[in-house]
Amino acid sequence: MDFSFDPPHTQDIATQIKNIEQRIASACAMVGRDPKEVTLLLATKTVEPERIIEAVACGIKAIGENRIQELKAKKEALAEVTCQRHFIGHLQSNKIKELLLCQIDCFQALDRWSLAEKLNVFLAKKNKTLPVFVEVNTSREPSKWGVLPEDTLDFVKRVSHLEHLRIQGLMTIGALSDDESVIRGCFATLRMLQETIREAGIDNVDIRELSMGMSQDLELAVQEGATMVRVGSGVFGGRS
Ligand SMILES: *Cc1c(COP(=O)(O)O)cnc(C)c1O
Repeated sequence: MDFSFDPPHTQDIATQIKNIEQRIASACAMVGRDPKEVTLLLATKTVEPERIIEAVACGIKAIGENRIQELKAKKEALAEVTCQRHFIGHLQSNKIKELLLCQIDCFQALDRWSLAEKLNVFLAKKNKTLPVFVEVNTSREPSKWGVLPEDTLDFVKRVSHLEHLRIQGLMTIGALSDDESVIRGCFATLRMLQETIREAGIDNVDIRELSMGMSQDLELAVQEGATMVRVGSGVFGGRS
């Protein structure tokens, strides 16, 4: 892939955030979008709380963790941080309780019915509702999680009857490919699914967010309509 992206070698988080924001703005300009429509969520896996706090101080509105253990480990250190907390990783059913104890604002990786049902039961007990995004496997790579595109509308309809879940978005990870058009196709698929679901006019469902694009491919995602990009290494540097 020939994007002019190199993982930053500097520790200067503020500079890297400005750099990513500039990339988002340039991609918006190419398609006549307002950069304010795109939220930069920082993927904070493996990043120490001190550096996350530094990043949020730069005006970051949302952060996301992938693993329950890490979410729990950082919870106290980040207690005072005022930004949205998303969970963006695959969730095993036996970790639902722990996830809900961490009081997240949004779960971005709803990828199967059994998980939706169980989440709903736990949330009902706490008398709470949880914003969720449905993860779609737009690349159809067997190694990736997510509902297949052709199953997404039915899945959304089914989940819409679960009173304690609120579907507010779709999430995907672009194909691992050297071919830009293949990656772009994944993002275009998510955008088309948003339209299909909106046209179906399903109660309890409001797909405002398209969470797509990471450090390597965020320009393509923004051009295809992302409202949220999830960036890790582009701000914090490479992960070992
Ligand atoms: C790590 C991660 C990202 C960010 O990836 P980078 O390539 O580091 O920007 C985005 N989404 C998910 C689900 C992730 O796990």
